[in-house]
Amino acid sequence: MKEYMQFIPQEVARLKEEGLFTNIKTLESPQGAWVEINGEKKLNFCSNNYLGLAANPEIRKAAKDAIDKYGVGPGAVRTIAGTMTVHKELEEKLARFKKVEATMVVQSGFSANLSVIPALVGKGDIIYSDSLNHASIIDGSRLSRAEIKVYEHNNMESLRAVLEADKDLNCHKLIVTDGVFSMDGDIALLDKIVELAEEYGVMTMVDDAHGEGVLGHGGRGIVDHFGVHGRCDVEVGTFSKALGVMGGVIAGSQGLIDYLNQKARPFLFSSALTVPDTAAVSKAVDLLMESEELVTRLWDNGKYFKEEMQKLGFNCGNSDTPITPVMIGDAKVATEFSKRLFDEGIFATKIGFPTVPKGKARIRVMISAAHSKADLDFALEKFTKVGKEMGLI
Ligand SMILES: *Cc1c(COP(=O)(O)O)cnc(C)c1O
Repeated sequence: MKEYMQFIPQEVARLKEEGLFTNIKTLESPQGAWVEINGEKKLNFCSNNYLGLAANPEIRKAAKDAIDKYGVGPGAVRTIAGTMTVHKELEEKLARFKKVEATMVVQSGFSANLSVIPALVGKGDIIYSDSLNHASIIDGSRLSRAEIKVYEHNNMESLRAVLEADKDLNCHKLIVTDGVFSMDGDIALLDKIVELAEEYGVMTMVDDAHGEGVLGHGGRGIVDHFGVHGRCDVEVGTFSKALGVMGGVIAGSQGLIDYLNQKARPFLFSSALTVPDTAAVSKAVDLLMESEELVTRLWDNGKYFKEEMQKLGFNCGNSDTPITPVMIGDAKVATEFSKRLFDEGIFATKIGFPTVPKGKARIRVMISAAHSKADLDFALEKFTKVGKEMGLI
């Protein structure tokens, strides 16, 4: 590599030395309870495919039918010529599903956060951000150039303290939080956050990426879970997790969505979500509106697995959702545990620093409605075997 680009291999070498280099695995099969990696079947505990919709036959068909009718690419950004019937249908359907006045569909959840935050706050304004918020919230916040004040994770005393300190400042203020925190599986205290926001006259925004299709009545999300409809100003969601496809949504009042249609830069300057993605998401929402069976199965699976793991003597942290962290502590031990599980046919990643604090390394098990009871029992047997071999239980 050219001399002035030597920093690149140097940084890669450093990542490898410190055990922070990610070896990216390739899946040779569709997403599902089991996946194929290097020609071997592995039980999949890594995907965010909570409801098993990523390879659902009805959704595949909806995407193919839409391609036959409308083609593939949107051809333009939404504001010029990229808004098609499929987009409008999906936005109206999502507004009914989420019981809001209006929604706006964008290319991804990441893009949704970059769309909303800089449109609501700017230089001279203030963002109150949970210390464990997702990278896309952090990047959206930085892009806005507002001042970012971080409050302690899900701690309402800490949030109140920063709001109180700024109460006489006259600027736009926004509280922003993840709905479900993906590394621990705990849920933001959105009812309390909304109360504080109302008391101090501050905007609220929740990024419900891991709650969309998971929390609330039939998977309607965190706002529905807490019954705070109309009180949380902005709800961001993704279609890449429980809905099994790709894309992002912003839900709120008609006034908010009209404003974002004019102001959100990824909506104005990056082309629309593709036709098959949009039609596939639309079908996924239909399936959620028809039946709660998948959401119920997801929660039943999560409850069963977590309870059995705790009986075996594993520490599963403070999760309130089907996300099941298996707390290990030492990063090297967690890496070894994950490797041995993989050899036994279980694909479950290690999560370590900097994603979680030092000394809090864990294996994160992502439970899905796609898992059968036999799958979960197979995993419990392997966790027991490897756990005992390593002296962890
Ligand atoms: C996964 C995730 C995103 C990104 O969503 P994509 O649709 O995959 O871009 C954004 N926010 C949170 C909280 C997430 O967990």
